[in-house]
Amino acid sequence: MSETVEIEVEKLKMLFDLVVQSMDFGSGFLDHEDVTLLRETAGIIGADPMEATPSEFRKRIQHPYREPNGNPYISATTGVPALRPCYWCGKKPSDSVHLAESASAGTDPADHQPSTEQGTT
Ligand SMILES: [Zn+2]
Repeated sequence: MSETVEIEVEKLKMLFDLVVQSMDFGSGFLDHEDVTLLRETAGIIGADPMEATPSEFRKRIQHPYREPNGNPYISATTGVPALRPCYWCGKKPSDSVHLAESASAGTDPADHQPSTEQGTT
């Protein structure tokens, strides 16, 4: 069992930013274990784990599809906004790297809510 310490969230955020903004981040220097740690830290400080995921990992680690910034592309033929390549990974929304919306809701430990089931119906 590993020892734990308390750290101010603000300090952890600074440390997180330091790593994510460093030259090593996205240089291929980080391995899967490093990225897992960063993603967990992002969850703790309330950041999006994808921000802590270098681009070479974004194509492999499952994540919710995110609409790119900017105006949606409206199809000239149907008038319907077309689904564009994902902001994070550049893949199609239907790609298997994307989690279904419902599945992604339960992946963040911070979102976990105690079950209040009282099964008497
Ligand atoms: Zn994606």
